[in-house]
Amino acid sequence: MNVTSIKGFRDVLPDEAARRRAILDATRGVLESYGYAEIELPLLEKGELFQRSVGATSDIVEKEMYAFEDRDGTLIALRPEGTASAVRAYVENGLTRSLPVGRLWYSGPMFRRERPQKGRYRQFSQIGAEFFGRDDAAADAETLCLVADICAAVGVRGTRIDLNSLGDAACRPAYREALSEYGRLHASELCTDCCARLERNPLRLLDCKNPGCKAAMSAAPLMIDHLCDPCRAHHDEVLRLLGVAGVAVTANPRMVRGLDYYCRTAFEVVAEGLGAQDAVGGGGRYDGLVAALGGPDMAGIGFAFGLERLDLASRPDGDDLGVAAAAVKILMAPVGEAAAGPALALARRLRQTGLRVEMESPGRRLKAQMKHADKIGARFVVILGDAEIASGRATVRDMRAQLDHASLFGLADDATAIVTKLEQIGQFEQR
Ligand code: ATP
Ligand code: MG
Repeated sequence: MNVTSIKGFRDVLPDEAARRRAILDATRGVLESYGYAEIELPLLEKGELFQRSVGATSDIVEKEMYAFEDRDGTLIALRPEGTASAVRAYVENGLTRSLPVGRLWYSGPMFRRERPQKGRYRQFSQIGAEFFGRDDAAADAETLCLVADICAAVGVRGTRIDLNSLGDAACRPAYREALSEYGRLHASELCTDCCARLERNPLRLLDCKNPGCKAAMSAAPLMIDHLCDPCRAHHDEVLRLLGVAGVAVTANPRMVRGLDYYCRTAFEVVAEGLGAQDAVGGGGRYDGLVAALGGPDMAGIGFAFGLERLDLASRPDGDDLGVAAAAVKILMAPVGEAAAGPALALARRLRQTGLRVEMESPGRRLKAQMKHADKIGARFVVILGDAEIASGRATVRDMRAQLDHASLFGLADDATAIVTKLEQIGQFEQR
């Protein structure tokens, strides 16, 4: 039996890796244009961090977290998300004092033990951003502008930003009680998961995908109708600012978020064509989380995009071979063992000018090497056979014109002079 990968853990093949890199570059560009600085966070954290932030009764911690006991007995978790780590790092490194208004972004793998399916894996990557120290509506509006600009820069198709307010410590407890009361009255119509959520996490009743639960909850009270005056004013101001800034959002009063720490503004970005896993990103305000993790009373708002879903929602249609190599411009074709050394040396020197050079196998016939040059779309083939080694001068085949140029340059010639010679016989791009 071959050893295979673990269920829900996948390999990213070159085509996809190239697209991921492009998505990350585009996103980084937008984040930096907003003044965000990058932070690198550990993949492992104490399990306690997520219990205290994401919430011990959340699906992520209760059902999906990979956790194990370290050799010294400490409970260790593979991070399921990035916000908790970012907040921990912000507090632990004294940034709450040195950077009282801070914008940080991160990217990297996250781990959740969910049922794998298209767009849902046990290891996936997120690009996230956290904005600390501002609780005004303009900070929320700026964050949503950033979200919209990232979607545009990445080229996500058919995006919609769903927006809701989840209230705060003043108005949510009473609403939560009203919701759980409503749920208890409809308990017989709810799935077993929702029955368990009734007391522990009633907000999740609203976004259960089960048709029976959806129907039962259709007349449930909504947070947006139970906001206290300050939450109401904050939400209205966010909407007004987004209107002025030209960012379109859709009110979705049933959208709640999976993490316990959200308050007031919550949002989700959905894209078309992704099927059931249509959320490419989500986020919200989490005032109170910094204090909950031992820091000062400090506001925060942030979001995370899923890289795999950004890719699914933005990639061009068509075949994905998964094996596209970097565009090699020159194939070095040594024919016979005597050519191997000079070919290796020449290829190295040409690469130093920025050229992409792939070296063929000296044991193969020239015809087979030429076939490979075709396959990889090489612009030129540098042929070093016995005759070339004897004369000390290379033969170059112009693949576009299907023409050989004998003794085009000397094997000891200066690399930039060789590039100039190649440019004289035909146009080519350096990279
Ligand atoms: P979902 O409703 O799809 O489970 P979520 O609310 O659990 O999403 P968040 O915790 O908000 O997701 O994470 C932000 C983003 O990370 C999601 O919008 C999604 O794009 C991505 N994401 C979350 N879980 C996974 C996963 N298991 N596999 C791939 N991407 C994921
Ligand atoms: Mg989830």
